Amino acid sequence: MSSKQPNDAPPSRKEAASTIEPVRLVMSIDCEALQQSIADPALGERSTRGFADVLEANKLRGTFYVISPDLEAHAAVYRDLDRRGHEVGVHIHAGEHDAPEFLGLLSAEEQRRVIQDNVDRFAQVMGRPPLSVCLGYGSANDATYPLLADAGFRHGGASIPGRRLPQCASCWDGAPLDVHYAHRWFRMLPGDLDFVEIPPTVDPDSRMWGGKHCQDLRIELVDAKSHWHLMDKTIARQVRDGVAMPVVRATTHNIFEYDDPRNFRRQTLEGTIQGFLDICQRRELSWQTATSADVAERFRALHSLPTTAAVPELDTRGRQFTKA
Ligand SMILES: [Zn+2]
Repeated sequence: MSSKQPNDAPPSRKEAASTIEPVRLVMSIDCEALQQSIADPALGERSTRGFADVLEANKLRGTFYVISPDLEAHAAVYRDLDRRGHEVGVHIHAGEHDAPEFLGLLSAEEQRRVIQDNVDRFAQVMGRPPLSVCLGYGSANDATYPLLADAGFRHGGASIPGRRLPQCASCWDGAPLDVHYAHRWFRMLPGDLDFVEIPPTVDPDSRMWGGKHCQDLRIELVDAKSHWHLMDKTIARQVRDGVAMPVVRATTHNIFEYDDPRNFRRQTLEGTIQGFLDICQRRELSWQTATSADVAERFRALHSLPTTAAVPELDTRGRQFTKA
């Protein structure tokens, strides 16, 4: 008989806490103020700088995913952030690269060209190839992960778990909630591809936008109190499920006035950070600030790359009802 039955009492907080890593807080921002539909470089620069200032005031490091036009327009800003210990990576909107807007609606060959253009333009500005990538809209198909890995990306966020937006090729309902190696053939499962996927924090039980999108930890979506409940529920689940390295990943965009202390989004950002600290204290959990690169590095140390993707077990209990 297995020592762990489904009805076993969960471990106490302290027991559970002693078996897991510190909770990593990843603060990521998609920088796209020069996207054609926004085209406000001054706002982009103010917002990016303001976001970094809030993080640094709280001794946190951020992950800045940047579309090529923003990176080229504000090269000095992003080089400076890189020097200050933040991570700068690529944010892909295919529409900025002479292609239709949604990456997941492109052929593998078209995607390869768009991805390579992002790599080349990033390297031109930053003096090194990018390692980290985040996809606009979470728009991807099953060709995307292998193409990202082929282009040299090592980690990032392609998925938005729970999304049901086929018109943007953003279908992720049932995708893993936690950090995992991507699957080379099927984007919805963990696999054996050497690319560490770091999904944004979402609540799969709470749906918005007519059911098309799960409540997620994007700063501008709701207020700090709602974010507190999402983070608390997420961390409780990760501890209960024995996730080796709990991760909370917040997201936002550089189109809000994060440089203005009176701005509601700025206050939500600050409140969300304080909420995270409060939850860790209440649950007696240690925590660390982390970039996506930090999370990927630690994930690789904790989990060696599988030689083959695991085949999930099929739940066949329903078949019993057909026997009689
Ligand atoms: Zn975007």
